[in-house]
Amino acid sequence: MTQQYKSAVKGNWYNGYSPIERDNKFKVLKKLIAAGTLPLASGPCALCSDPDIPVEYHSEDYGEPYLWEPPAMYCLCRSCHRYKLHQRFWQQSLWLSFIAHVRRGGYSRDLKQADIKQEVETCRHAIEQGQIFTLSPLRPYQNIVGLEWFANLRIDAASLTDPASRLNRDSLLNKE
Ligand SMILES: [Zn+2]
Repeated sequence: MTQQYKSAVKGNWYNGYSPIERDNKFKVLKKLIAAGTLPLASGPCALCSDPDIPVEYHSEDYGEPYLWEPPAMYCLCRSCHRYKLHQRFWQQSLWLSFIAHVRRGGYSRDLKQADIKQEVETCRHAIEQGQIFTLSPLRPYQNIVGLEWFANLRIDAASLTDPASRLNRDSLLNKE
């Protein structure tokens, strides 16, 4: 992938939604928060489960009518949101090793500790070599591995602009 294409797509298109579509939802989100209709994002982080970290809204879906709750929207800590989830197309092994870290009960902020960071780096290299590396547990994991909302997200850059990567609106709107 060329650097030019990468910068054109990065941080713009997502899940088959254009920058304009994404921006439109974001503008409505800001209005609803300002009006008090929607609460500010609150934790725990829906990716790493950290209960004591500031979080921000992340949308997986930008279709109308807008939806403001999972699976269309999640509250994520900044590190999970900006440096893991949205980077997964360009740093796939980083993403996969980070999910392994989350599943051993790791928070994003744990990676500030040198020994933990090093262990996840080792895991990342193992993934790149097609090998298995088991991280030592940090905390009990509350979710079912493989059924998390982030378990099977596409990590190919083509998914950013691919209309087929949009969430199924029918199932979103008909959910109880
Ligand atoms: Zn997080």
